[in-house]
Order: sequence, then C-alpha cells, then structure tokens
Amino acid sequence: MAYNPAPLERLIEHFAKFNGIGRKGAARLAYQVLTMDASQAMAFADAIRDAHTKVHRCSICQSFTDAEVCPICSDGGRDGSTILVVESPQDVAAFERTREYRGRYHVLHGLISPVDGITADQLAIRELLARLQDGTVKEVIMATNPTVEGEATALYLSKIIKPLGV
Ligand code: ZN
Repeated sequence: MAYNPAPLERLIEHFAKFNGIGRKGAARLAYQVLTMDASQAMAFADAIRDAHTKVHRCSICQSFTDAEVCPICSDGGRDGSTILVVESPQDVAAFERTREYRGRYHVLHGLISPVDGITADQLAIRELLARLQDGTVKEVIMATNPTVEGEATALYLSKIIKPLGV
C-alpha cells in the first residue's frame, strides 16, 4: 500500500507515534511538512531538537524548565509553605492560567497505575519527600485528577506524608 519514498515514509511513521494520530493523520502532517518552504521545515526540525535538548526537569518541583530552577520555584514572592501536587507540567500551566494559586508545585510525572505497570518509584515522589524535610512546607494539596489512578496516587501519598506531620 505504501508507495511513498522512504524518507517520507519515515516521517509518516514518526507522526504516527503521537497519541491520537492515526496512519491517515500522520500522512496528512508529513505531506504538509513537504509543502513547507525549506527554511520553515528546518525551523520546525530545530524547534524539536531545541525543546528536547534545552528543556528538562526543574531541580526542585520537577516541572519543565530551560533553567536549573524554574521561574515559579525561584520566585521569592510565592508562598513556600504550600505545595500543590500535580500529575504533569501541563497541569502547572493550567493552574497558573487561573492566577489564583500563589504557592509552589510538585510534578509527579505520572500516576500510580498497576494496570499500566506504573509504580510509585517511577514517579517523582522521592523528590517531593526531600522537600518536606526542613519544615518549610506546612501543607501539601493533592490536585491529581479524580480518576482511579489519581485517587490511588493521592491515597498513597497521604499515607507516607501524614507521619511527617505536614
Ligand atoms: Zn520548579
């Protein structure tokens, strides 16, 4: 069925790896890349490379940043006594858009899910516990989604955090 030149076929296969994009959608995107002018296509390739090499986890909250510490963690005006625990960096962006929360965040990078084989030690829980050691944090708010995985993760965390007196 595939009469595409090999480089085009490779591009289609890459797009097809995205969640929610099937083979047809992937082909559509790949053809669009070929209709771009060269400078646009190179800028696109550079943007992928840059995002991947320059963006990493904040050493404190584990959200994505291109610095050692993200702007939220380095903002002295934010309330360091409260940590809002979320599943992904996108959740941080969503909470920030509401402009109502002035505390800090912690990003778990996933939820506990026995079905998908994701256990607590694959999440950024060790990093969260490390932040609770010096007594600055008085309150940890769980803001994981009300799914089975979200509830299980919240329950697990409350069990290990409660004994710390937070
Ligand atoms: Zn941070």
